[in-house]
Amino acid sequence: MTEQQSLPLNPAQREAVEHPGGPVLVLAGAGSGKTRVLTMRIAHLITTQHVAPQRIFAVTFTNKAAGEMRSRVAQLLGADPRGLWIGTFHSVSARILRREAPLLGFGPNFTIYDSDDSEALVKRLLETRQLSTKVYPPRTVHAVISSAKNRMLTPEELGAQADAPLIKVAGEIYAALGPALKQANAMDFDDLLLHPLTLFREHPERLAYWQDRFQHVLVDEFQDTNAAQYLLVKHLAKRHGNLCVVGDDDQAIYGWRGADVRHMLTFQNDFPGTKLVRLEQNYRSTQIILDAANGIIAENAARLGKTLFTEKKGGERVVLLSTADERDEAEWLANEFARRAADGDAGYEGMAILYRTNSQSRPLEEALRFRGIPYRLIGAISFYERREVKDLLAYLRLIANPADDEAFLRVVNVPRRGIGDASLTVLGRSAGAWQKPLLEAARRASAITELRPNVREALAGVASLLDRLRDAVGQADPATALETILATTGYEQYLADEGSEGLERIENVRELVAGAAAWAEVQDPDAAEGTGSPVERYLTQAALVTPADEARDAGGVTLTTTHMAKGLEWPIVALAGLEDGLFPLGRSTEQPGGVEEERRLCYVGLTRARERLYLSWARTRYRNGRLELAEPSRFLDALPSQVVEERSTTPTWRPQRGMSGAMPPRPPRPRGAAARRLPDVAFPEEVSQDAPRYVKGERVRHRKFGGGIVRGVSGEGRDLRVSVDFDDPDIGTKQLLAAYAGLERDWEGEGA
Ligand code: ATP
Ligand code: MG
Repeated sequence: MTEQQSLPLNPAQREAVEHPGGPVLVLAGAGSGKTRVLTMRIAHLITTQHVAPQRIFAVTFTNKAAGEMRSRVAQLLGADPRGLWIGTFHSVSARILRREAPLLGFGPNFTIYDSDDSEALVKRLLETRQLSTKVYPPRTVHAVISSAKNRMLTPEELGAQADAPLIKVAGEIYAALGPALKQANAMDFDDLLLHPLTLFREHPERLAYWQDRFQHVLVDEFQDTNAAQYLLVKHLAKRHGNLCVVGDDDQAIYGWRGADVRHMLTFQNDFPGTKLVRLEQNYRSTQIILDAANGIIAENAARLGKTLFTEKKGGERVVLLSTADERDEAEWLANEFARRAADGDAGYEGMAILYRTNSQSRPLEEALRFRGIPYRLIGAISFYERREVKDLLAYLRLIANPADDEAFLRVVNVPRRGIGDASLTVLGRSAGAWQKPLLEAARRASAITELRPNVREALAGVASLLDRLRDAVGQADPATALETILATTGYEQYLADEGSEGLERIENVRELVAGAAAWAEVQDPDAAEGTGSPVERYLTQAALVTPADEARDAGGVTLTTTHMAKGLEWPIVALAGLEDGLFPLGRSTEQPGGVEEERRLCYVGLTRARERLYLSWARTRYRNGRLELAEPSRFLDALPSQVVEERSTTPTWRPQRGMSGAMPPRPPRPRGAAARRLPDVAFPEEVSQDAPRYVKGERVRHRKFGGGIVRGVSGEGRDLRVSVDFDDPDIGTKQLLAAYAGLERDWEGEGA
């Protein structure tokens, strides 16, 4: 394809892309094209080395990055790489496990417990042992267990290390957690990484199968793999030895979660004969931005050492801004971004404000909203964490996996059925005695004489409701399944009874259904091989979504944490809140290596910028309910003076702030998740400008289905459906939700 020529590679990049096989380590700085090399290598393997897509296993940092890489490969190939394994460690592991679960004592329909589920389970395990959840907070206990799992410690090993009572209790709960999860036919996030390793240890024939299966294994952001992840790829790549990893030790930012940058060092020992490729040209940033970033990272001692140059000589100087407080900071940045947009330097979608902690987003959001600047927040709260979404998914989970006790507890009294906590404790005891899941115990509630007759009846009612739902849903697609649940349970009415907030939730319910329909439309049937019903696959996907995956591509300034910005780039970037104690974050400075990791994070932030960079700090800031005086981040001291241009806002007198040290009132807190939604300004725009419009007879292109002709249009806004008659007779006519289908006018799709 001519496309390939439009994506040039430099000689070092080409070497990595075209390396015929064997272990390859690409060690290179930010913006040097590592991710691009990985993408091109996948395409190259398929086209030139004729490797079947289903024999390639590629790991990326987010599901969204996986999606982007996949469509890039599709572009290069001119066809969708059907069957290609690409995703995060969690999602590709889950895919293996769906097929192997029975060998590990799980059903293939296992549920993936999110951290709320896991914490709730830990809480119940504490309670049944009469251990105080005040003294041993379930969240902390779960965190200790999770960190032990990440370090691949067994419960016994954790217990043996115990010096504090909390750790001892965590060891005890950890020992009980495994069997409890198995009983519920559930795996938590950590299990997704560990169970494949257990499988490979206990079933060498399965290891042999997967080793044989994957001819090529590729890993992006290798510096952030933890021990379990590295072991997984080592196992998978052992047979064919074709393991290509790319990474940058200076961007290792997940040490706190168990990632170990030393894997970059041991790689060459683990794989003798490794081809080491260094990429030295940065294609992203101006020289000035690189100088600033290099100045900061140079302060770290333990580095592998890399060279990085750019042909984008010079550039605008980095603005180092000091402001009165966080609102002043936000307003200045909002003004500046508006000015930049007006000058035509970049559209809002080409701008980002990055910060260290999620709580910093609010003043920034307020300032942007005030100026009517569209933005998108890649935040801590995911769509899938909303109550109504979790309720419905819990029904779906219970249909797929009747042993899922956490899902049962979530919906047993939703909508209200008069089943209280005390009754559930009684039910739990019976379930324990019978060694049955709660749903099964509910079915036999008539035998539990301790319960009041009406509760027995209600519980039996829930069990039969679930039976009916399971029959009705069968092999249906997830959207139909959700609609069936809504129709059968009266859930929407239950929300409607909650008043205006309920109405907002109903909207989210509709969005969930529409999203499920859209999901089904873009499924790769080859990826489904042996991985369960559509509902099960949908649930896997929903469980593994992270906020970073949900970011809408529709315009607007991006607001996100520096962690989430990894791997991304924008023409204009601001790093806000560069104060000591915030960046580097206070608690991290107390840990060994903590400041170095924060410095790498800062380096990641700086290197996201292509053309223009702002670094700001506020002289006072509200933190933890108190106004605090701040010092500029120690990292800023290392900036070479010739690349920066200092700015400072004059301290503006604000009446409410000047009152002899009295604390100014805080603005009201946003109302939970709902307040964190996309800004109001984004909506009209989404509908009026960005919303696709289609006319009958028009030619369109779909990412996967190819070209076709619009035959009909119905609905509006989010529910706008287009019926397209695709050129490929195997695909035929399809109904697509316009908001999700990503249809393009055909002339745009051709030759671009
Ligand atoms: P990071 O360390 O931040 O993950 P990276 O090394 O993965 O960065 P990429 O994101 O792959 O770098 O590439 C950075 C930018 O440089 C992208 O915009 C990419 O398209 C561009 N780029 C990479 N290689 C080339 C090249 N040979 N010619 C032109 N542009 C290139
Ligand atoms: Mg990258």
